[in-house]
Amino acid sequence: MEHDTYADADLAEGGMRTVEVAGRKILLARVGGTCHAIGATCPHAGGPLGDGVLREGVVTCPWHKAAFRAATGERVEPPAVDDVPRFPVRVGGGRILVTVTDKPGRVDATPPTIDNDVRCMAILGAGAAGAVAAQTLREAGFTGRVVLIGREDRLPYDRTVLSKYTLSGQKGGEKTPLQDAAFYTRHRIERRVAEVTALDPAARTLTFADGTHLAYDAALIATGGVPRTLQIPGHDLPGVHLLRTAGDAEAIVGMAAYARHVVVVGAGYIGLEAAGSLRERGLEVAVVAPQDAPLERQLGPEVGSAFRRVHERQGVVFHLGQEVAAIEGNGRVQSVRLKSGVVLPADLVVAGLGIVPATGLLRGIACRKDQSLDVDAQLRVVDCLYAAGDIAAFPLYGHGDTIRVEHWRVAQQHGRVAALNMLGQAMPYDAVPYFWTIHYRKRLDYVGHAETWDEVVVDGNLEKPEFCAFYVQDNKVRAVAGWDRDRQMAAAIGLMSDRADWSVAELRQALGQPVI
Ligand code: FAD
Repeated sequence: MEHDTYADADLAEGGMRTVEVAGRKILLARVGGTCHAIGATCPHAGGPLGDGVLREGVVTCPWHKAAFRAATGERVEPPAVDDVPRFPVRVGGGRILVTVTDKPGRVDATPPTIDNDVRCMAILGAGAAGAVAAQTLREAGFTGRVVLIGREDRLPYDRTVLSKYTLSGQKGGEKTPLQDAAFYTRHRIERRVAEVTALDPAARTLTFADGTHLAYDAALIATGGVPRTLQIPGHDLPGVHLLRTAGDAEAIVGMAAYARHVVVVGAGYIGLEAAGSLRERGLEVAVVAPQDAPLERQLGPEVGSAFRRVHERQGVVFHLGQEVAAIEGNGRVQSVRLKSGVVLPADLVVAGLGIVPATGLLRGIACRKDQSLDVDAQLRVVDCLYAAGDIAAFPLYGHGDTIRVEHWRVAQQHGRVAALNMLGQAMPYDAVPYFWTIHYRKRLDYVGHAETWDEVVVDGNLEKPEFCAFYVQDNKVRAVAGWDRDRQMAAAIGLMSDRADWSVAELRQALGQPVI
């Protein structure tokens, strides 16, 4: 049925407007003079697309920066794994008229079955990168076998919610599992729950723990990371937990039901998110870490201290500049002794000490010192073998540095690019890295990549917090971190994709900040 939605003259070129029609939120967007109508809600976590950014015909969600083509609803960037619906639209009598019918997303077009296509694409790792790679192979029309292998007996799920909503017991809007079982059946993606013990690129085979093999034509390795463990007495007491998988998170939640005091070891993103979530559950939370401010290495002391204040206001107690000497208890954890001699009560310990890339199964290829794998711009390790996600050390587009990051959206982008290259497309990975972290329902967005910097220029209020922090090296902005700056950070992705050499003044102005 056709609905009268909005005055045509009131929707400017490059403008967006969310309207409600027949109980549905629809986004009107004008691109190149033409008005388009697509679903207004991001299928990743329910973000309001109309509050995002429309640029070159692409709408970027203000929340986790998924992006969709305004003309078709097709997704062009993760973390969404589904398209948004597109609605027929026309202009009549000066009004924008929209017909509300659902168009199926792109991936529902099942590729034709060609019985004699005996090629096999093996995807080792059913996480962020692997799941997107499998989906992309089908979306790109590949008709041979797609085998998606992971050791967890679950559908590929959103790992990022574990330290946030699983631990806090609150609800996030993220779609998880990423796709349902019927999706994999419909698209003939063979999900295999198994431990792979070896990948031999020369022989093009995978070996499973049961001794069987799988021969492949092209493979993607996306095995993520193995969490570092505490190397101190008592590290194996019941009640001491790591956090990487849904099983880990569920075990922590199980313990949290009976715990009063939690000690989080490590003040990186995962440790800090876990601290906040367990605090939201009502537990007494202490954080122990050797650095002077949380997230100091990633964001610097000023922004790190803003995080500290946010957590302290909620009652988290920090023991910074401190190291853990031992975990003590009789049959289960009861306390944590610091090297300073301080003893903290603990019924539960969560260690967030970072990961080591899970590449030990790869045969005949040298890893980097940190165990990651060097890939070229097309994410290729060697012929017919690609690597993606947390294990991949890749050239940062526009800068030439080789970097490795642990970002959900980057891993998904890698999965897509690697899959297309497995099909022979020769596509470079040229995105600007982006990740988010959430604390007490507020999100910090981070665009770009800076391991070192000359200065951090902050616009806004670090106390509140509500700010944009520019990480500058050689007078060029390498990264921007934004707290409570949804729209600006969505815009920053597009701007920093265009150019790698923004000065702070230029980028500020482009983002709508005052020029200083
Ligand atoms: P993973 O998603 O870890 O997938 C690896 C897969 O490989 C798994 O399926 C595993 O079972 C499988 N596997 C490994 N070895 C084998 C083997 N030998 N045999 C069989 N299967 C194997 N990033 C953000 O940007 N924002 C966030 O807010 C955020 N929050 C996070 C919260 C938590 C708790 C964690 C742990 C990570 C978070 N991250 C976040 C980081 C993000 O989840 C990772 O960067 C991303 O998952 C990496 O994807 P991947 O595909 O490389 O690896």
